[in-house]
Parts: sequence; structure tokens; C-alpha cells
Amino acid sequence: MMELNGKGVSKGIAIGRVRYISQVMDKVEKRIVADAEDEVRRFEGARALAATQLGELAVTTAEKLGDKNALLFEIHQMMLEDVDYREAVGDKIRSENACAEWSVSETAVEFSRDFAQMTDEYMQARAADVLDVSRRVVEILLGKQPRRNAFDEPSILAAWDFAPSETAQLERETTLALLTSGGSANSHTAIFARTMGIPAVIGLGESLDESWNGRQCILDGDTGRIILDPSEAEIEAVREKQRRQEEYRKELEAYRGRESKTRQGKEVKLFANIGNVQDASLAMENDAEGVGLFRSEFLYLESKDYPDEDKQFEAYKAVAQVMRDRLVIIRTLDIGADKQAAYFKLPSEENPAMGLRALRICLQRPEVFKTQLRAIYRASAFGRVAVMLPMVASVWELRRAKELAAQARAELDEQGVAYDRSLPIGIMVETPAAAVISDQLAKEADFFSIGTNDLTQYTLAVDRQNQGLDEFCDTHHEAVLRLIKTTVDNAHAAGIWCGICGELGADETLTARFIEMGVDELSVTPPAVLPLRKRVCEL
Ligand code: PEP
Ligand code: MG
Repeated sequence: MMELNGKGVSKGIAIGRVRYISQVMDKVEKRIVADAEDEVRRFEGARALAATQLGELAVTTAEKLGDKNALLFEIHQMMLEDVDYREAVGDKIRSENACAEWSVSETAVEFSRDFAQMTDEYMQARAADVLDVSRRVVEILLGKQPRRNAFDEPSILAAWDFAPSETAQLERETTLALLTSGGSANSHTAIFARTMGIPAVIGLGESLDESWNGRQCILDGDTGRIILDPSEAEIEAVREKQRRQEEYRKELEAYRGRESKTRQGKEVKLFANIGNVQDASLAMENDAEGVGLFRSEFLYLESKDYPDEDKQFEAYKAVAQVMRDRLVIIRTLDIGADKQAAYFKLPSEENPAMGLRALRICLQRPEVFKTQLRAIYRASAFGRVAVMLPMVASVWELRRAKELAAQARAELDEQGVAYDRSLPIGIMVETPAAAVISDQLAKEADFFSIGTNDLTQYTLAVDRQNQGLDEFCDTHHEAVLRLIKTTVDNAHAAGIWCGICGELGADETLTARFIEMGVDELSVTPPAVLPLRKRVCEL
């Protein structure tokens, strides 16, 4: 028996055998060829076939997981058409007189290394993609079937990391869970696993290797705990936990459609945090009373260039329609710091978390901001929509943003476009400054939502990305709780409502305290809505 801890990125427990998938590219050998030009043609043939397969994969993925997930395969297809890539492989074949599979593999590793060293996160993410598409070409050249999980027995699939195309091809029925050495919580593996509801643990490092193949394993996606070669007693204990989870899920059903009210009749609205329209469906499935935070920046992060007004309008409208009569709070662009998009060409900064980000970018680039605002206003004709501004620190920022919103409305009026004239404009309280002057801000904002993730980082001066600072990051720190209380009090004194949309909102040990403070709304991930309602109703 061996116990290890990774990072749980998709909830649920799995018990089963490990199927370790080794990387095909590690094993490609260099072979000298007689005719380099012939070999270049062989490469071109395999490349074209790989591109066709990716096109087909895009279609099936769109059906199975939606257009957003399919987009990746379109990007992969384009990578295979890239002239630099094709020339680099051709040059390698000719200069080394080497076989195509080795030349593809070498080129992929070189490109991937270059991508990984770039400062831009979007480009860094391409490092995995170039390996992924190249692996497909190598498999075709070697006459192998693409890696699929066509195993007879449902298993826990393990690998150093999964390429995006592999995760998308997984069959739900035969995949008990995913386990990787590398990866991050926002890697494709994690996102796909969550989308498909497959438990996943990442970040096991070197401890996970081929020797795990075929061995029994327990994986807990809630805690990140892994037990290899568990005893019968351990398996039984985990089965018991699985049964309890199943019972708990059934119990939660009783809270669907109910108000979130304590026994003494205090009500708190339970909303959901989402990033796209699929999450909005999840919010509805989990009976969220609205969307408290739509992180609109994902639209920008997925694009190669600024998403235009129509594209944004369609995305916001789709969410507003899915949520029907429930409120959808769209947070305006929150890019910068850890969320980078190359086309913004943001300056490299010593201290990006305190740099040019979120509303600051929008105020410096009013046209970018107004494009988003117009799209949001247009969507407001199709549901109940509100705007929320991130990273406000001063009253003048809110005023300036409202002036730009007025300009956006005037532009739509000129075009005779319909929108909700009373669309509320609220702010996130996520800087200590905003919390301290929340009395002033409350006079000019329609609502507050406290972003405890950033509020904690800035109040305690603890970088939220830095795992090494865990012991200093006390999420229940009195300083943060006092700022929350001040903000709620000031909101109520000015007659506006105040919610929490940071991760702390889902912390059930604080629910009673938040309700006592008078917090009006808690916005949490969709699967956390019903457990939190149960908690509220039992208080
Ligand atoms: C927050 O800061 O608490 C928040 C909800 O926003 P994000 O996590 O997207 O920065
Ligand atoms: Mg934030």
C-alpha cells in the first residue's frame, strides 16, 4: 500500500485499476533514409490525414461537449497547416537524412520548448498542443491507431499529462478517473474532467510512472488523496464514503426549488459563478437562483484577437436565455495578472497583480470597454442582466466607467437598438480600498459583490498564486471578515444589496456568520449551490 497526495481538480471517488498511457513520442528512433524528398512527401501525407482526423474530431466534440471545446481542434488543425512547422520538419528530414517520424518528434519538442519559454500564458499553453498534434502525425507514420481508451475494463487513466484531444475522446463509461503527473487546475485535463464529471487528481510528479499499470488504486478527487495497492479494508472504507456521498446527493434533491431561508426566516440568495454557457446550464441544473459572477474574460482568453461586439453579444445573450428570468451578473473584462491574452500586448510588469489589469485596462482603452458594454446592453433585451466592475479602488473609476456605459447606451440609441434601460451597474469589492470607502461607493453603485479571493490577497499581502505561502493565507483572517462586515453595513445604509462571489462564499463554516452580517447573496460554483442551501435551511 502506498499513499500519495496530488491536487484534486474534479470531485468524486474512483476505485479501479490504473491504465498507464506512455507517450508515443518518447520512443521514436532515428532512422536514416535513402531519399529525403520521398520522406518529406510521406510526412506531408500523414500531416494531411491528421488534419482531416482533427476536423472530424472537431465535429464530434462540438456535438458531445459544445462548440467551445471543439474550437481547440480547429486550432490544432491550423497548427498542422502552419508554414513554419511544415518547413521545420522538411528541413530536419533533408539536413539529417532522417525518417519523418523522428523529424516530426524532434521538431515538436523544439517548438514546444520555445512555446513553454514564452512569457505569454496563451503561447505557453500551445506547448502542449504542438506535442499533441505532432503525436498524431507520428502515430499515423508508425501505422498506429490513435490512442483511445478502448479498454475492456473501466479504469483510472494515468499519464504524465493528457493532451487535449485525448481527454476529449475519452469514453465516460470506461473512464473511472484521470490521474496525471503534471498539469494545473486550469489545464485542459482539469477543465474537460470537470465538464464531463470525471474525478481527477493532478500533480503527482515523478512518483507516477509505468510501474502503476494494472495496479489497484483509490482516487479521491475531493481531497487529492491517492492510495495505490489498497487493502480490502481501505477499499471497503472508501466504498462506504461513496455510499454516503450518494445518499447525500439524494438528500440534496429535497432542496431543489426551495427558498434559501434559515429556520428563523432569514433569506440569502444562492447564485452561481460561471465562465460560459455550458456552466449556465449547470447553474440551472443545480437550481442556482441566478448568476452572481459571469467571468466574461474567458471569452477573451479563448480568442486570438479581441472578440467583436457580435460575438460577445451572442455569448451573453445565450447565457441570459439559458437563465430565463433569473438575474445574470456579467463581470466586465478582468484580464491582466494571471490571466493574459497576447493580443492585448500588456507591458511586462514587475508586479502584475498590482499592475495594469481589469477595470484599469478598460479605462485606458475605452473602445475595448465600450464594445463589451454595448454587447452586454444588447443582451439585456433577452433576459435579466446586470454589469459588475472588477478591481475598483476609487470613486472616480466607477464614475468614469458609468460615463462610458452612458456613451455605449447613447450609441445603441442612435442605432435604435433595444436594451434594458434600468440595467444595474454594480461593483466588485475586492480591493481593501473599496471596502474602506464602501460608504462612498455605495452611493453610486447599484449593488456590491465581495471578491474575497482578491480581497484576501490584497489585505493580507499574500499572492494567491503562490502555494508556498499557504500558512500565511488565513482565509478566515479577522481583517478580511471586518472588511466584509464594513462593506455590508455601508451597502445597507445606502439601500443597496451586498453579496459575496469569492470562494469564501461557499465556506459552510462561515455561512452562519455571513447571514448574521446581513450578506444578501452568495455566489458559488454550480455544484456547491444545493449543499449550501441545505446548510442555510438547517441554520
Ligand atoms: C475574487 O477575486 O474573489 C473573484 C471572485 O474574482 P476572481 O477570482 O476571478 O479574481
Ligand atoms: Mg478577483
